[in-house]
Amino acid sequence: MFVSDILSQKGGLVFTVTMATTVAQIAQQLGTRRIGSVLVMTDTDTVAGIVSERDLVSAMSTHGAAALELEASQVMTRDVVTCHPDDSIEHVMEVMTTGRFRHVPVVHRGELLGLVSIGDVVKARLEEARHETEALRAYIVAG
Ligand code: AMP
Repeated sequence: MFVSDILSQKGGLVFTVTMATTVAQIAQQLGTRRIGSVLVMTDTDTVAGIVSERDLVSAMSTHGAAALELEASQVMTRDVVTCHPDDSIEHVMEVMTTGRFRHVPVVHRGELLGLVSIGDVVKARLEEARHETEALRAYIVAG
């Protein structure tokens, strides 16, 4: 199974904010949309960074309530690790495990095609395992 299989199921919708969006606004978006991260885009619509729940917690622990006034550019992770639609699910699992993060944007030729979360990866892997079990059962019954 590949990243493109996940995207064909969930679509390519990615929630984004600007560099000036405040932590309070990001928290509201994560809460209402029930998502764990947003991508931060530049004025020219390229990915400048990512802000996840963890960054909000970290900002709150450092700045207290004042963190709510900080802007995305002040709390985001700048070096965003991305993946390609042709990457395998196993590769993305490895990237998430090594990098200790749960969100990976999908980029092809500089174009943002979607975002894969750890939840998407686990769901895809479970489906794959289910299919493998069914195939093995069918093989044993047929033999
Ligand atoms: P997460 O596990 O996705 O909530 O993120 C944990 C930390 O890793 C946060 O500081 C995020 O900003 C950062 N992070 C999340 N996704 C990525 C990514 N694809 N590339 C680089 N850093 C990331």
